[in-house]
Amino acid sequence: MSKRSHRPVAFGAAAFALALAISPLAAPPALATPTPMHQVARPQHEVTPALTPTALLATKPKPPRDPARADVLVNKKYPLIPRKYVPRLTEVPGTGIRLQPQAAKSYKKLVAAARRDGVDIRLTSGYRSYAVQKGLLEKYTRAYGPAYAQRIAAKPGTSEHQTGLAIDVGNRNRACALQACFATTKVGNWMAKNAPRHGFILRYPKGMESVTGYAYEPWHFRYVGTAQAKAMAGSRSKTLEHFYGVAPAPRPNAAKPSAPKSGTLKNTKKTTANLNLRRGPSTGTTILKTVPRGSTVRLTGKKSGSWVQATHRGTTGWMSSRYLR
Ligand SMILES: [Zn+2]
Repeated sequence: MSKRSHRPVAFGAAAFALALAISPLAAPPALATPTPMHQVARPQHEVTPALTPTALLATKPKPPRDPARADVLVNKKYPLIPRKYVPRLTEVPGTGIRLQPQAAKSYKKLVAAARRDGVDIRLTSGYRSYAVQKGLLEKYTRAYGPAYAQRIAAKPGTSEHQTGLAIDVGNRNRACALQACFATTKVGNWMAKNAPRHGFILRYPKGMESVTGYAYEPWHFRYVGTAQAKAMAGSRSKTLEHFYGVAPAPRPNAAKPSAPKSGTLKNTKKTTANLNLRRGPSTGTTILKTVPRGSTVRLTGKKSGSWVQATHRGTTGWMSSRYLR
């Protein structure tokens, strides 16, 4: 883990604004061009051997399924057993957020260690029940459609947050909250370097979407225990999936270009200029890409002033409606 964490973090177009998390739909659906994902995403038979040294295969432990265990594997392919599992929980003092007791204890130590380094960590999410996760996915599905929603939020019964072992963290000033650029913030940096020492691993590393099933989330950490975190670092496993030598989680539909559905044709427009597709409905937001003049874009139906939300070749963002016909 530490190897990766020292690497400078590139972001930009791929700065996904959205979380698995908690946050209200404040951020526009920064369906940034998933360039890093596409570059790294290869068929499974190429990915697995490259990241799983053959020597380790013999000793590969089987993925534990008991969600009371800190080393449990939970992903889209390995749901919780039972699906409506409720862990033993304790509140992280002063946060209103609950975690499994051992995770809460380690988190408190982690926070204290960060504070000694002058870093103030804010806990933004921990345990989420089956019902809460269900509501979250429904909310995202309504806002962004099922394919994109499933890239950023787990189906109920498959979320690590339901184990009470996963945390989302942020900066006190909320800098880059739930965005890829969080990795470059004080807390993001500190966590990447130090979280494994306290038994927390970065669960959805950059470029691992085809393996974990999720876009890069530098704010989401998973308690696995210090021994396991150390073992993972030692085996150079970038993800729990690699560590357990299991097949990657299914690749989300959103990564594939989808054919326009019938009835969407009336929602297509042509650009009358080279037009910037931005993260949000203002010129102050990041440019996700520049759409060439004469391109066809599909409108999602969302509007903000003279801005409309549109999709161009799999990238969704906001553009000025003045240059659309
Ligand atoms: Zn999370």
